[in-house]
Amino acid sequence: MNTKFFIYNTLTRKRELFEPLHPPRVGLYVCGPTVYGDPHLGHARPAITFDILFRYFTHIGYKVRYVRNITDVGHLEHDADDGEDKIAKKARIEQLEPMEVVQYYMNSYHDRMRELNVRPPTIEPMASGHIIEQQQMVSRLLENGYAYESNGSVYFDIEKYGKNHNYGILSGRNTEDLLKSSRELEKQADKKNPLDFALWKKAEPGHIMNWPSPWGNGFPGWHLECSVMSRKYLGEQFDIHGGGMDLLFPHHECEIAQTVGYQGKESVRYWMHNNMVTINGQKMGKSLGNAILLEEFFTGNHKLLDKAYSPMTIRFFILQAHYRSPLDFSNEALQATEKGLERLTEGIKSLNKIIPVDKSTVDPGKIEKNFYEAMNDDLNSPVAISVLFDGIRDINSVVAGTDSLTDTDIERLKTIYNKFVHDILGIPDFSKTSENKELLYGLIDLLLKMRMEARNNKDFKTSDRIRNELEKLGVEIHDTKDGFEYKI
Ligand code: ZN
Repeated sequence: MNTKFFIYNTLTRKRELFEPLHPPRVGLYVCGPTVYGDPHLGHARPAITFDILFRYFTHIGYKVRYVRNITDVGHLEHDADDGEDKIAKKARIEQLEPMEVVQYYMNSYHDRMRELNVRPPTIEPMASGHIIEQQQMVSRLLENGYAYESNGSVYFDIEKYGKNHNYGILSGRNTEDLLKSSRELEKQADKKNPLDFALWKKAEPGHIMNWPSPWGNGFPGWHLECSVMSRKYLGEQFDIHGGGMDLLFPHHECEIAQTVGYQGKESVRYWMHNNMVTINGQKMGKSLGNAILLEEFFTGNHKLLDKAYSPMTIRFFILQAHYRSPLDFSNEALQATEKGLERLTEGIKSLNKIIPVDKSTVDPGKIEKNFYEAMNDDLNSPVAISVLFDGIRDINSVVAGTDSLTDTDIERLKTIYNKFVHDILGIPDFSKTSENKELLYGLIDLLLKMRMEARNNKDFKTSDRIRNELEKLGVEIHDTKDGFEYKI
């Protein structure tokens, strides 16, 4: 491995040379979705950020074990109106099993991710499949003195942990200050300190999702699943833990505390956080009416959208910002991205039109070198994309006759763009899909011409058969004076 990749580590607040623990293997854990509703724009950014990391690492020769969890139960989000758990409420109203609700939204998440061309992780564990392991971690934390039982629930003891370790190490908060300010907060019934977080929660009567435990029937606290599942699949120590910046505190801070309390040392070597998205300069939120679902972007069916935007426009738009910068969505910005994407794909296609000459005035090596340099600099996708546009400008000037390329360099450019745009950035080869369309239209045309010939020969059996079979496949046929028209 001679690629030097630099990563910004949220823990040390420094840009560091990435050195995996067991090269060429890389362990990557990313906090996945909570499947309580249809995926919205906020789900797209972390998924695409870590998809690029996964694709790029694979490209430069690492063997990545990419674990992204599904928070199905445990992290119980309560409805603002009546305090009932959201999954339980939906299950009760629609007379579904809670796992049917979970499965429905998980399928919806997977469908949208497929449309965005996000590769699935190599392991996708679910919180509900790891209850025993979570209970084991709670028991050990109790033994180690970092947790206490209270009225059927178990809580993590921040004050105790703060005596030996640093709670706040990731978010830069100071344990003393946190404890001081928390003392002013109202004391919550079961907790010693309002800062303490639940490792295991007692299930109130009627709570659907619960499991027996040494502390009574209940369910795990949300932070616990990530400490448990990352450790189970990636080991005591692993390379990268990722997620959205909104998870940094308290979720990731609590994960660190749990892991350190359990095994005496931190497990993550590099913490990586993507920044958030805003819409028309506003934070996204249900109450603001701007939490646009991914499906609504793809259909254009939302009052804030002028039109539909393809999944690739959304993907390319996200990649045009560095993952650590905030990103604002607006119709204008998305339409500019649409145009840019078209310029890129048209430029790549025009490589086929170039007539080679004996001497190149354009250097494909420069594009290659600059692209890798940008990607190795903490995944700087906007700079990498601008390098690709520089290349397109060169290609266009060759097409216009101002510059020239040899046969070898044309082929080299085709390979470079195929590798960078399709494999690494995950923007599919549109020329292939349009070729497929041409093939499809060509075949329908051919069949309809054969139908006309059959009719002219008074072979109505064949002509009707062609018409009926095509209509069954969804082709609408209209006979006209001179022939036919059709729609699919
Ligand atoms: Zn997590």
